[in-house]
Amino acid sequence: MRDPYEVLGVDRSATQDEIKSAFRRLAAQHHPDRNPGDDGAHQRFKDLNAAYQVLSDPQKRAAFDRFGPAGVGMGATPGGPGGPFGGMPFVDVSDINIDGIFGDLLGALGIKTGDRGSLQKEIKISFEEAAFGCTKEITYERVEPCLDCGGIGAAKGSATERCTACAGRGRVRLQQGVLPIAIERPCARCRGTGRIVLDPCKTCRGAGLVAKSRTIEVTIPPGIENGASRIVERAGNCTRADRAPGDLELTIRVSPHEVFRRVGDDVVCSMPVSFPVAALGGEIEIPTLDGNGRLRIPAGTQPGAVLRVKGKGIVRRVMGGRGDQLVEIIVEVPTRLSSSQKELITRLAEELGEEVKEPQEATFMDKLKNLFG
Ligand SMILES: [Zn+2]
Ligand SMILES: [Zn+2]
Repeated sequence: MRDPYEVLGVDRSATQDEIKSAFRRLAAQHHPDRNPGDDGAHQRFKDLNAAYQVLSDPQKRAAFDRFGPAGVGMGATPGGPGGPFGGMPFVDVSDINIDGIFGDLLGALGIKTGDRGSLQKEIKISFEEAAFGCTKEITYERVEPCLDCGGIGAAKGSATERCTACAGRGRVRLQQGVLPIAIERPCARCRGTGRIVLDPCKTCRGAGLVAKSRTIEVTIPPGIENGASRIVERAGNCTRADRAPGDLELTIRVSPHEVFRRVGDDVVCSMPVSFPVAALGGEIEIPTLDGNGRLRIPAGTQPGAVLRVKGKGIVRRVMGGRGDQLVEIIVEVPTRLSSSQKELITRLAEELGEEVKEPQEATFMDKLKNLFG
């Protein structure tokens, strides 16, 4: 195994970009296709690839820096590394309190171990806003990288040092029992950053993260239903300053309407209609989602009849257009009648061949008396 820095001709302090461009340049130069008849080109190209595999991976590079070829499973160390983790340095983590240093700080921000930063919120909209869609401003609190320390957690001008628990890798291996199986998890001491803060930032107390209130605008599409959810990508919590925030999941709560209820894309309402209008036909004023409208009542409309007003319903999410408004007819029976009105109705009944009697006054007690008397 040759020194990968030597193979790529880069300095030990070379940046990832420098390593990448050196590799590209040399790989193009030594590609076997470009060097027909040159048997050495094959080996040189292989070496370049192997070197790049190590130096392009920050973890492998750090391991090489610390342990040499054995650190990246390239050495011939019998019985040494080379397992499923490519011979990463084994770190004893028994002395690390996983929820220690950072657990308290992050716990105070509402972030738990393994949290991916997703946030849930409810958003209330009116029936009309659900029908036609709307734009809503929502203000909520989320965890963001601390601006005062750039998310590092170190006070301005103070230094950080490489984490000894994970050798700066940010991840540690946990050996379980005697089986040659190890699991990896983020290093608790440095919280996966590989660096230890010596003088914590005053603003975030070293967490690198702070809770902040923010306001965003959310577009609610027309036709959304109560209980539906909307995902606003990356509007959730930052659980690590160097990672993209989680998503914000909004649950839509549609307030019930005083007059309308929703059935699919249709809106349903009940309308009282006087007995003469139901019998003779006519026109009534009805409320619609677009303001007041008029509805023609055909002659002979029965109680409970449902009349359809086309295109006055909810905006259809898929097919476009709008649902309908369904008007359920309640025929009002007059209660207080003048004597002349009574007379008119009696004459109508006679005309219809119906026998009209005085209402039965017999009460429950009268019936009982009849039964036992
Ligand atoms: Zn800070
Ligand atoms: Zn660490």
